[in-house]
Amino acid sequence: MSAVSAKENLTPLMKQYEDLKAQYLEEILLFRLGDFYEIFSDDAKKAAPILEVALTQRQGVPMCGVPHHAVARYMAKLLKKRLRVAVAEQMEDPALAKGIVKRQVVRVISPGTLLEDALLQAQNNNFLVAVSIENKPSQAAYRAGLAALDISTGQFFATEMEDDAQFSRLANEIALINPAEIIAEGDIPATVAPEIPVRLLKDIAGDLTDLAALASRPLARQAAHLAAAYARKMNPGAASMFEAPQWLDASQTLSLDRVTLENLEILRNKESDSTDNTLLEFLDQTVTAMGGRLLKQWLLRPLKNIDGITARHDAVEDLVRNSSLRTEARECLKGALDMERILARAQSGQANPRDVLGLKNSLEKVQALSGLLRGASALLHQKAIEIPDFQSFIVHLASAISEDPPIRLENTGAIRDGFNAALDEKRSASREGKNWMAALEARVKEATKISTLKISYTSVFGYYYEVSKSHVSKVPPEWHRKQTLVNAERFIDNELKDLEQKILGAEEQALRMERALFREILESISERASHIRQAARAAAELDCLLALAETADMKSLARPQMDETAVLELEGAWHPVVKDKIAAGMFVPNDCSLSPEGDQIIILTGPNMSGKSTYLRQTALAVLMAQAGSFVPAKKARIGIVDAILTRIGSGDRLAQGESTFMVEMKETAKILREATGRSLVILDEVGRGTSTYDGISIAWAVLEHLNRAPKPKVLFATHYFELTHLASELDGVKNFNVQAQERNDTVVFMHKIVPGPADRSYGIHVAKIAGMPGPVVERAKKILARLENEHDSLLKSRKSVQQELAL
Ligand code: ADP
Repeated sequence: MSAVSAKENLTPLMKQYEDLKAQYLEEILLFRLGDFYEIFSDDAKKAAPILEVALTQRQGVPMCGVPHHAVARYMAKLLKKRLRVAVAEQMEDPALAKGIVKRQVVRVISPGTLLEDALLQAQNNNFLVAVSIENKPSQAAYRAGLAALDISTGQFFATEMEDDAQFSRLANEIALINPAEIIAEGDIPATVAPEIPVRLLKDIAGDLTDLAALASRPLARQAAHLAAAYARKMNPGAASMFEAPQWLDASQTLSLDRVTLENLEILRNKESDSTDNTLLEFLDQTVTAMGGRLLKQWLLRPLKNIDGITARHDAVEDLVRNSSLRTEARECLKGALDMERILARAQSGQANPRDVLGLKNSLEKVQALSGLLRGASALLHQKAIEIPDFQSFIVHLASAISEDPPIRLENTGAIRDGFNAALDEKRSASREGKNWMAALEARVKEATKISTLKISYTSVFGYYYEVSKSHVSKVPPEWHRKQTLVNAERFIDNELKDLEQKILGAEEQALRMERALFREILESISERASHIRQAARAAAELDCLLALAETADMKSLARPQMDETAVLELEGAWHPVVKDKIAAGMFVPNDCSLSPEGDQIIILTGPNMSGKSTYLRQTALAVLMAQAGSFVPAKKARIGIVDAILTRIGSGDRLAQGESTFMVEMKETAKILREATGRSLVILDEVGRGTSTYDGISIAWAVLEHLNRAPKPKVLFATHYFELTHLASELDGVKNFNVQAQERNDTVVFMHKIVPGPADRSYGIHVAKIAGMPGPVVERAKKILARLENEHDSLLKSRKSVQQELAL
């Protein structure tokens, strides 16, 4: 059979399906048929095993289906396989449709354009990233524009950057945003997003949102255009679900790269791939999903301008001091739902009656919060008054939505009695109808003398008289028999049918009216989109400030003194996560003092497991926390604004990308040397370990010399190579510190105290012994060490001359 004749033989329904499918060849088309979404043909063969549903046939066409109320669960399975889903809905009431019900694709669902609560993570944004590249091959330089759009919250921003041929800046920005989906114009290498395939798109049509904020940024503009047009194409029916894109100025925030985020375990713990033992977990006392998402953004993009930082610190300090206000404000906000996402669902027509009730309750909560903090000062006051007045809208919603509405609109009861007179009338008709039925039953019983007669209802037969077998002879001749059961027969007559129509008609009309009214309510919500978003964001900021104050108070953090110098001074500092992990009171606090004019580079030596990494990380974390607006884990802190935290810690294999540990280490170190400025904080842990000892020492040595020259960033450098400790006596600003350890009875005790001077030895063999290495191996190792150290000493004696030679 040829394709053409096959098409001619299609039933009208399948023809409708084929016509829609032709427009969505790449997607799995879900085709609404009554209470099911059906999937046909090749789509069905592809989807059935993923959905784990039976593949059946309908007139020779393969098909499978899923119930409409559980569709989110099935969509999740398709999305997980990186498939996109087109949803065709019935555009008219099947009961009223003439001929075949009109169907239309109302949305296409891809990982970056989700709205379903069940598919989204409350604590994470769900960004679609669009990339636009300007290729200048002659100069081996590139410019990239990037736009990030989360239609589930309305957030939209764009930026631009100069980049190298590997697009490493772009890759870094994408890693920070952690998008669900990436689209691009023009080729970009797969390495920019190793885990996410990039979809290439060309010329999506669509007129655009206000791009004024990106006026002089052609690439950011282009990327924003791409993102917006794509999102619109995916949600053709939705009201404007996002605002004009904002220009993101990366130079305004402390620069963190993905390596540093991972190393410092800011948002994720590499080992458990969770938030356990992360800075986020330590700080996150937010009580709403909106606040939780914003706090992450604060940690990803700490501030660099002192006014912004001071404003947050002032607010946190006010809230630490006034703990009753803090408690009351947090109570106010508790239970506020995700207003941004409810709004997005309302705009796309997907919100259900409980969403609307939830929005109303949440608006009440943020309104109360606004009232409470209006009297506070500065930033708190400012955020409080940014929450618009929703009083009359709350009253409107409260009068419209029932106190206990159904989740689904298919059930009645979403709209409150008294909200709409016409609806009330229909409802009372359907309620009255039930009384009329009771009256009819009594009357017919009386007239026919059938004592067991009753009027019953099933959805298939509607209303009927049920007469037990023994009374059938008394049934009036004008009744029609509908059904015969074992013990009874069922009849109808005209009067019963008329009444049935009145009742069912009223019920159905009431339901239809409810739906229309509900749509109006959703529209009234959409009309207030920008106000609702503004309220949600202000509430999220207040939630973050309250959370930071709560943590500061509970964990006895200190307000850092911020200034524009390049000085970093921490007194009695501790690691927020490690301190909580070990026995109470056992953590040894340490000081740290770094500045370009004083101790510019600290070389930290000490045994394994003595606390070197902990010290390096706690210093970096204190800076990051301070600039994110938090107080810091120290007794006292003075922090000159840092422009970048650059780290090279641990092995961090990226084997998936085919890079050896050493290669990764060298790449990361090279990047640090390129990017560090006089305001940067550089954390280097064991640089040069991935190669032979002399290689490693030489590289580490040269790296330190380089960092010791202008622009002189602040550097903490932990190493095993004692050879490097000699640099302290030769280079200005380089200082030795070590983590104290004591040898007791041939075993080693770590004091965890950072003290001036180089370590005397590494205690590696002691640690090996504690670890259970067999005695003879330990003894043999000691002997070998003694010999090597002898040889080494003679090398060191000649080292001065090496230094002099090198200087030539
Ligand atoms: P290193 O980098 O020297 O190998 P780590 O910084 O990884 O050592 O610390 C090893 C362990 O020592 C930590 O997991 C923690 O339990 C403990 N530790 C580190 N610093 C301290 C400290 N200041 N006070 C108490 N215990 C500490």
